[in-house]
Amino acid sequence: MERRIFVLSTLKTIPLLFLAPNLLTSCNKDDEITPPNGKTVIVIGAGISGLAAAKKLKDKGFNVIVLEAQEKIGGRIRTDRSLGIAFDEGASWIHGPKGNPITNLASQADANTYLTDDDSLKVFDNNGTAYSDAFLDAQYTQFENALNAVRSIGTQSQSFLEVFNSLYPTQENNRLWKYMLSAYLEFDTGGDISTLSSKYFDDDEAFSGKDVIVTNGYDKIANLLGQGLDIRLNSRVTEVNYTSIKSLVNVNGDSVEADYVIVSVPLGVLKNNSVFFNPTLPIDKQGAIKNTKMGNVNKFLFSWNTPFWETDVQYIGYTPDTKGKFNYFMNMLKFLPTTNSLMTFAFGDYATVTESLSDGEIISEVMAQLKTIYGNSIPTPTNMLRTKWGKNINTFGAYSFAPNGTTSTDFDTMAKEISNKLFFAGEHTIRDYRGTVHGAYLSGIREADKIIAL
Ligand SMILES: Cc1cc2nc3c(=O)[nH]c(=O)nc-3n(C[C@H](O)[C@H](O)[C@H](O)COP(=O)(O)OP(=O)(O)OC[C@H]3O[C@@H](n4cnc5c(N)ncnc54)[C@H](O)[C@@H]3O)c2cc1C
Repeated sequence: MERRIFVLSTLKTIPLLFLAPNLLTSCNKDDEITPPNGKTVIVIGAGISGLAAAKKLKDKGFNVIVLEAQEKIGGRIRTDRSLGIAFDEGASWIHGPKGNPITNLASQADANTYLTDDDSLKVFDNNGTAYSDAFLDAQYTQFENALNAVRSIGTQSQSFLEVFNSLYPTQENNRLWKYMLSAYLEFDTGGDISTLSSKYFDDDEAFSGKDVIVTNGYDKIANLLGQGLDIRLNSRVTEVNYTSIKSLVNVNGDSVEADYVIVSVPLGVLKNNSVFFNPTLPIDKQGAIKNTKMGNVNKFLFSWNTPFWETDVQYIGYTPDTKGKFNYFMNMLKFLPTTNSLMTFAFGDYATVTESLSDGEIISEVMAQLKTIYGNSIPTPTNMLRTKWGKNINTFGAYSFAPNGTTSTDFDTMAKEISNKLFFAGEHTIRDYRGTVHGAYLSGIREADKIIAL
């Protein structure tokens, strides 16, 4: 899925010229390795942001300990190979691969990529008829115009949906528009349109180039960064005490001491107060954590013995009555020809609804929709894999977004260091690239650079 297809394609691509030069140079793989400097850094969380910070600091002579709650590294980069193909539960695409630091890392990690052609798409109405290309093109243009219109009159207090409804009172119940609003906008931003900010929904930036998907597992990139680091798995941090010169981090009942601590746990974990800070975090940071939100996106992979869909098409769209409900199918055969699989998604509020449904209920809902397109005789899938990002205690959601009531400066506030002892990384701390792998990576490099500069 070309996240940011409408919103960012023309407006957001920023020339590399305008990026902080230290962030770009930090992406080079040949950074010099320097001797030990006697300082210890604890990095909480082994997602891409924590790993990027840890690697850079280790290369610069710091003693770095990474404490990770889960049984493996990567966080929201997580690959399940149990069905013989790589099912990426979290990140799949490198958004805007040109100049994107993840492109370089992917090639170093032997992560294969494939250009998922967004124009290779058929969209079906809920009676099984396909929309014509000409009709879809016209609707997409109107949709793009609608996004621009909402953006231009949006206010801090109003949600996207509120402003959208005031402009287009009849479109909320138009099934094709529901499809576009969820499969494009909610997927892109992470937030349900009923709580997404009408003013700040898309004020971030993007690298250029068409999105590519990693086909043999995004975890290869996280694993590359993790090589040679002191990473302690199954180590859930419960408290960070930064009252003294040295900070104390509580993990599994033990205290670990450090000169600097980088907190790279997701926004959802901070919102849930899963880590206790002593002293409590400054009021502005607490406010930013409260104001911003975690959105939800869930993924579902189905496989069959033989395909029954258009094998030459990359995406199959569907327009159910319920917004965000299994309305976008990615034909995995296009890049994984040995397995007959489709991946589908649940976006926004419906993503959360799916987490209470049993596997059987999910299969029957998805099959009912596919049957309206391909007929009642299509077979039941042989396997299914699914995610439940909202219930996941290591994230409490998929990625952060700006809801109504907040401003994007909250993302900057979340990045602020405290007393040159406590530092914050993660996709929610980088306003311009929030919600992405490259954003998370760059935030880790940014925090490492702050510590190196002290
Ligand atoms: C469904 C989905 C699809 C996505 N698709 C894309 C995509 O295609 N392209 C893209 O660029 N981005 C995508 N993203 C977003 C991207 O995955 C994230 O922005 C990025 O991986 C976040 O990295 P991070 O380091 O900030 O956080 P995380 O990867 O979440 O890392 C944080 C780590 O902290 C650990 N942790 C939590 N609590 C504790 C604790 N108390 N003690 C110790 N450790 C703890 C967690 O286990 C985790 O490993 C997607 C995300 C999801 C969920």
